Amino acid sequence: MDDMKILVVEDDRSVLNLITTTLKINHYSYIAASTGNEAVSLCASHHPGLILLDLGLPDIDGIEVIRTIRSWSSAIIIIISARGEDSDKILALDSGADDYLTKPFSIEELLARIRAAMRRMQYIANRDEKSPVFTNGDLVIDYASRIVTVAGTEVHLTAIEYRLLTLMAVNVGKVLTHSFIIDRIWGGGVETDIISLRVYMTSLRKKLRSARPGLNLIETHIGIGYQMLRAEKV
Ligand code: CA
Repeated sequence: MDDMKILVVEDDRSVLNLITTTLKINHYSYIAASTGNEAVSLCASHHPGLILLDLGLPDIDGIEVIRTIRSWSSAIIIIISARGEDSDKILALDSGADDYLTKPFSIEELLARIRAAMRRMQYIANRDEKSPVFTNGDLVIDYASRIVTVAGTEVHLTAIEYRLLTLMAVNVGKVLTHSFIIDRIWGGGVETDIISLRVYMTSLRKKLRSARPGLNLIETHIGIGYQMLRAEKV
């Protein structure tokens, strides 16, 4: 995946320079756009595998850029958003973005997100749609038999915990918002709140950890949702 191209969309020159310099030093190949329209057109002509997208653009809104690109591209989209805009992040994630980075960010954070995106891309590229088994580090889900094991130990889950886990597994690496999860697990019209979701999630994590203490495959995004991380070694 070393030849994978990254599209950087940022109208702030200094941030753009910071990102592109970081990419250059780390031998990533990239293209850059400073407007939404330019981003859409570069995405169509260069097919980048990863897009680092600023939401506040001078011409069209970043959310519109996501929706447009998502209508034909499965590129991983990481939002680069200013602090304190949880509602913007949620809207961006629900519109098809995969992850977000909050400004100001460190170079290490940026590189960690890019590596995580690469792992997700590799997973998507190698994924056998018909495979009945999902593996992520110590976690193995056998969809056919509905058996979940962690480091070889079977973990007994309730129906809802199992559905939560498989929903995150299918979307591994992507940040799933509370409303997305609630809608997928309980369907529309069912009154399930974020507090109930948190209770189910706590129980699920506890069960996974009981099989392997310290296991942390599910990350909490406070005020936003949850993300299953792709293990470094699968
Ligand atoms: Ca901006």
